[in-house]
Amino acid sequence: MKRKEDVQSIIEALKRLYPDAACSLTYDPEKVHELLFSVRLAAQCTDARVNMVTPALYARFPTLRSLAEASEEEVGEYIRSTGFWRAKARDIVAASRMLLTEFGGKVPDNMEDLLRLPGVGRKTANLILGDVYGQPGYVCDTHCIRITGLLGLTDGSKDPVKVEEQLRKCIPPEESSDFCHRMVLHGRAVCVARRPDCGSCTLRPWCDHGGAAGETKEEAPAPKPKRQSKAKTRR
Ligand code: SF4
Repeated sequence: MKRKEDVQSIIEALKRLYPDAACSLTYDPEKVHELLFSVRLAAQCTDARVNMVTPALYARFPTLRSLAEASEEEVGEYIRSTGFWRAKARDIVAASRMLLTEFGGKVPDNMEDLLRLPGVGRKTANLILGDVYGQPGYVCDTHCIRITGLLGLTDGSKDPVKVEEQLRKCIPPEESSDFCHRMVLHGRAVCVARRPDCGSCTLRPWCDHGGAAGETKEEAPAPKPKRQSKAKTRR
Protein backbone atom coordinates (compact mmCIF):
# COMPACT_ATOMS: atom_id res chain seq x y z
CA MET A 1 0.00 0.00 0.00
CA LYS A 2 1.31 3.44 -0.96
CA ARG A 3 2.10 5.78 1.91
CA LYS A 4 -0.43 8.57 2.32
CA GLU A 5 2.22 11.26 1.83
CA ASP A 6 3.39 9.62 -1.39
CA VAL A 7 -0.17 9.52 -2.73
CA GLN A 8 -0.49 13.21 -1.92
CA SER A 9 2.82 13.93 -3.67
CA ILE A 10 1.54 12.15 -6.80
CA ILE A 11 -1.70 14.14 -6.71
CA GLU A 12 0.16 17.44 -6.31
CA ALA A 13 2.70 16.62 -9.03
CA LEU A 14 -0.14 15.81 -11.44
CA LYS A 15 -1.84 19.11 -10.64
CA ARG A 16 1.34 20.99 -11.51
CA LEU A 17 1.80 19.00 -14.71
CA TYR A 18 -1.77 19.20 -15.93
CA PRO A 19 -3.52 22.18 -14.36
CA ASP A 20 -6.44 21.79 -16.75
CA ALA A 21 -7.92 18.40 -15.93
CA ALA A 22 -10.95 18.67 -18.17
CA CYS A 23 -12.29 15.81 -20.23
CA SER A 24 -11.23 16.20 -23.87
CA LEU A 25 -14.62 15.18 -25.28
CA THR A 26 -16.51 18.21 -26.57
CA TYR A 27 -20.21 18.72 -25.82
CA ASP A 28 -22.78 21.41 -25.16
CA PRO A 29 -22.86 21.94 -21.37
CA GLU A 30 -26.57 22.68 -21.69
CA LYS A 31 -27.09 19.20 -23.14
CA VAL A 32 -25.58 16.74 -20.71
CA HIS A 33 -26.85 13.79 -22.72
CA GLU A 34 -24.30 14.73 -25.39
CA LEU A 35 -21.46 13.98 -22.98
CA LEU A 36 -23.15 10.73 -22.00
CA PHE A 37 -23.33 9.61 -25.62
CA SER A 38 -19.88 10.89 -26.51
CA VAL A 39 -18.42 8.74 -23.76
CA ARG A 40 -20.34 5.78 -25.21
CA LEU A 41 -18.87 6.55 -28.62
CA ALA A 42 -15.36 6.76 -27.13
CA ALA A 43 -15.39 3.06 -26.22
CA GLN A 44 -12.68 1.39 -28.34
CA CYS A 45 -12.11 4.73 -30.07
CA THR A 46 -10.15 7.94 -29.53
CA ASP A 47 -11.64 11.11 -28.11
CA ALA A 48 -10.27 12.95 -31.15
CA ARG A 49 -12.22 10.69 -33.50
CA VAL A 50 -15.38 11.09 -31.43
CA ASN A 51 -14.98 14.87 -31.50
CA MET A 52 -14.81 14.67 -35.29
CA VAL A 53 -18.15 12.90 -35.67
CA THR A 54 -20.29 14.41 -32.92
CA PRO A 55 -20.76 17.92 -34.38
CA ALA A 56 -22.63 16.48 -37.36
CA LEU A 57 -24.48 13.94 -35.19
CA TYR A 58 -25.71 16.53 -32.71
CA ALA A 59 -26.53 19.01 -35.49
CA ARG A 60 -28.77 16.40 -37.14
CA PHE A 61 -30.27 15.37 -33.78
CA PRO A 62 -30.18 18.54 -31.68
CA THR A 63 -32.48 17.34 -28.90
CA LEU A 64 -32.92 14.27 -26.76
CA ARG A 65 -36.33 13.75 -28.34
CA SER A 66 -34.90 13.81 -31.85
CA LEU A 67 -32.43 11.09 -30.84
CA ALA A 68 -35.21 9.08 -29.18
CA GLU A 69 -37.23 9.22 -32.39
CA ALA A 70 -34.29 8.50 -34.68
CA SER A 71 -33.70 5.22 -36.44
CA GLU A 72 -30.67 3.28 -35.30
CA GLU A 73 -29.62 3.04 -38.94
CA GLU A 74 -29.49 6.79 -39.42
CA VAL A 75 -27.65 7.42 -36.14
CA GLY A 76 -25.26 4.69 -37.21
CA GLU A 77 -24.44 6.51 -40.41
CA TYR A 78 -23.03 9.42 -38.40
CA ILE A 79 -20.91 7.34 -36.03
CA ARG A 80 -19.66 4.59 -38.30
CA SER A 81 -16.00 5.60 -38.04
CA THR A 82 -15.97 5.17 -34.24
CA GLY A 83 -16.29 1.40 -34.56
CA PHE A 84 -18.92 -0.95 -33.13
CA TRP A 85 -21.39 1.55 -34.53
CA ARG A 86 -24.43 -0.72 -34.60
CA ALA A 87 -24.25 -1.39 -30.87
CA LYS A 88 -23.45 2.24 -30.14
CA ALA A 89 -26.37 3.50 -32.23
CA ARG A 90 -28.70 1.03 -30.55
CA ASP A 91 -27.59 2.18 -27.09
CA ILE A 92 -27.87 5.90 -27.93
CA VAL A 93 -31.41 5.60 -29.24
CA ALA A 94 -32.53 3.30 -26.41
CA ALA A 95 -30.92 5.47 -23.73
CA SER A 96 -32.56 8.59 -25.21
CA ARG A 97 -35.94 6.89 -24.96
CA MET A 98 -35.34 5.80 -21.38
CA LEU A 99 -34.13 9.26 -20.37
CA LEU A 100 -37.39 10.71 -21.67
CA THR A 101 -39.76 8.06 -20.36
CA GLU A 102 -38.20 7.34 -16.97
CA PHE A 103 -36.07 10.34 -16.03
CA GLY A 104 -37.98 13.32 -17.35
CA GLY A 105 -35.36 14.02 -19.98
CA LYS A 106 -32.66 14.60 -17.36
CA VAL A 107 -29.44 12.63 -17.10
CA PRO A 108 -29.53 11.03 -13.63
CA ASP A 109 -27.26 12.29 -10.88
CA ASN A 110 -26.75 9.00 -9.12
CA MET A 111 -24.87 5.81 -9.91
CA GLU A 112 -27.83 3.45 -9.58
CA ASP A 113 -29.98 5.22 -12.16
CA LEU A 114 -27.10 5.91 -14.52
CA LEU A 115 -26.26 2.20 -14.61
CA ARG A 116 -29.80 1.42 -15.77
CA LEU A 117 -29.24 3.29 -19.03
CA PRO A 118 -28.31 1.15 -22.04
CA GLY A 119 -24.60 1.28 -22.77
CA VAL A 120 -23.69 3.00 -19.52
CA GLY A 121 -21.17 1.28 -17.28
CA ARG A 122 -19.37 2.42 -14.17
CA LYS A 123 -16.71 4.33 -16.13
CA THR A 124 -19.30 6.46 -17.90
CA ALA A 125 -21.40 6.87 -14.77
CA ASN A 126 -18.39 8.00 -12.74
CA LEU A 127 -17.45 10.51 -15.42
CA ILE A 128 -20.94 12.00 -15.49
CA LEU A 129 -21.05 12.19 -11.69
CA GLY A 130 -17.66 13.88 -11.51
CA ASP A 131 -17.80 16.22 -14.51
CA VAL A 132 -21.45 17.18 -14.49
CA TYR A 133 -22.57 16.89 -10.89
CA GLY A 134 -19.34 17.61 -9.01
CA GLN A 135 -19.55 14.33 -7.13
CA PRO A 136 -16.68 11.89 -6.61
CA GLY A 137 -15.86 10.28 -9.94
CA TYR A 138 -13.43 7.38 -10.11
CA VAL A 139 -13.22 7.02 -13.89
CA CYS A 140 -11.27 3.82 -14.47
CA ASP A 141 -10.40 3.85 -18.15
CA THR A 142 -7.47 1.99 -19.69
CA HIS A 143 -4.94 4.72 -18.84
CA CYS A 144 -6.09 5.02 -15.25
CA ILE A 145 -6.10 1.26 -14.73
CA ARG A 146 -2.64 0.82 -16.23
CA ILE A 147 -0.85 3.78 -14.64
CA THR A 148 -2.30 3.44 -11.15
CA GLY A 149 -1.12 -0.16 -11.29
CA LEU A 150 2.39 0.88 -12.35
CA LEU A 151 2.52 3.55 -9.67
CA GLY A 152 1.52 1.04 -7.02
CA LEU A 153 -1.72 2.75 -6.09
CA THR A 154 -3.46 -0.53 -6.91
CA ASP A 155 -2.36 -4.14 -6.93
CA GLY A 156 -2.14 -4.06 -10.73
CA SER A 157 -5.56 -5.55 -11.33
CA LYS A 158 -7.03 -4.91 -14.78
CA ASP A 159 -10.57 -5.27 -13.47
CA PRO A 160 -12.10 -1.77 -13.48
CA VAL A 161 -14.36 -2.54 -10.54
CA LYS A 162 -11.45 -3.73 -8.40
CA VAL A 163 -9.33 -0.75 -9.46
CA GLU A 164 -12.16 1.62 -8.58
CA GLU A 165 -12.50 -0.05 -5.16
CA GLN A 166 -8.80 0.36 -4.47
CA LEU A 167 -8.65 3.96 -5.68
CA ARG A 168 -11.59 4.84 -3.45
CA LYS A 169 -9.39 3.81 -0.51
CA CYS A 170 -6.41 6.00 -1.41
CA ILE A 171 -7.54 8.94 -3.56
CA PRO A 172 -9.67 11.48 -1.65
CA PRO A 173 -13.18 11.82 -3.13
CA GLU A 174 -12.76 15.52 -3.86
CA GLU A 175 -9.63 14.76 -5.91
CA SER A 176 -10.97 11.72 -7.72
CA SER A 177 -12.45 13.15 -10.90
CA ASP A 178 -9.53 15.44 -11.73
CA PHE A 179 -7.04 12.76 -10.73
CA CYS A 180 -8.53 10.32 -13.23
CA HIS A 181 -8.56 12.92 -16.01
CA ARG A 182 -4.90 13.59 -15.26
CA MET A 183 -4.14 9.88 -15.51
CA VAL A 184 -5.49 10.00 -19.06
CA LEU A 185 -3.35 13.04 -19.88
CA HIS A 186 -0.26 11.40 -18.38
CA GLY A 187 -0.98 8.22 -20.30
CA ARG A 188 -0.99 10.19 -23.53
CA ALA A 189 2.00 12.42 -22.83
CA VAL A 190 4.52 10.38 -20.82
CA CYS A 191 3.38 7.01 -19.51
CA VAL A 192 2.33 5.67 -22.89
CA ALA A 193 1.27 2.04 -22.98
CA ARG A 194 4.05 0.47 -25.02
CA ARG A 195 7.02 2.53 -23.87
CA PRO A 196 6.52 4.63 -20.77
CA ASP A 197 9.09 7.44 -20.72
CA CYS A 198 10.21 6.85 -17.14
CA GLY A 199 13.39 8.90 -17.64
CA SER A 200 11.31 12.03 -18.17
CA CYS A 201 8.54 11.24 -15.75
CA THR A 202 7.82 13.56 -12.86
CA LEU A 203 6.06 10.76 -11.01
CA ARG A 204 9.10 8.51 -11.04
CA PRO A 205 10.13 9.15 -7.43
CA TRP A 206 6.89 7.60 -6.24
CA CYS A 207 6.39 4.99 -8.94
CA ASP A 208 6.80 1.28 -8.18
CA HIS A 209 7.59 0.57 -11.83
CA GLY A 210 9.68 3.53 -12.94
CA GLY A 211 11.51 3.77 -9.63
CA ALA A 212 12.36 0.08 -9.59
CA ALA A 213 15.89 0.71 -10.88
CA GLY A 214 16.80 1.89 -7.40
CA GLU A 215 16.93 5.60 -8.05
CA THR A 216 16.46 7.67 -4.93
CA LYS A 217 14.06 10.56 -4.69
CA GLU A 218 16.99 12.99 -4.63
CA GLU A 219 18.41 11.52 -7.84
CA ALA A 220 15.13 11.56 -9.68
CA PRO A 221 14.86 13.75 -12.79
CA ALA A 222 13.54 17.27 -12.54
CA PRO A 223 9.92 17.80 -13.60
CA LYS A 224 9.59 17.88 -17.35
CA PRO A 225 5.96 18.34 -18.29
CA LYS A 226 4.84 17.47 -21.76
CA ARG A 227 1.89 18.85 -23.58
CA GLN A 228 -1.25 16.83 -23.95
CA SER A 229 -1.78 14.92 -27.17
CA LYS A 230 -5.44 14.24 -27.73
CA ALA A 231 -5.28 12.19 -30.85
CA LYS A 232 -3.71 8.82 -30.43
CA THR A 233 -5.02 6.75 -27.60
CA ARG A 234 -8.21 4.90 -26.90
CA ARG A 235 -10.31 5.06 -23.81
S1 SF4 B 1 7.77 6.39 -13.84
FE1 SF4 B 1 7.38 5.28 -15.77
S2 SF4 B 1 5.88 3.71 -15.26
FE2 SF4 B 1 5.88 5.22 -13.58
S3 SF4 B 1 4.24 6.65 -14.11
FE3 SF4 B 1 6.14 7.49 -14.90
S4 SF4 B 1 6.28 6.77 -17.03
FE4 SF4 B 1 4.74 5.51 -15.97
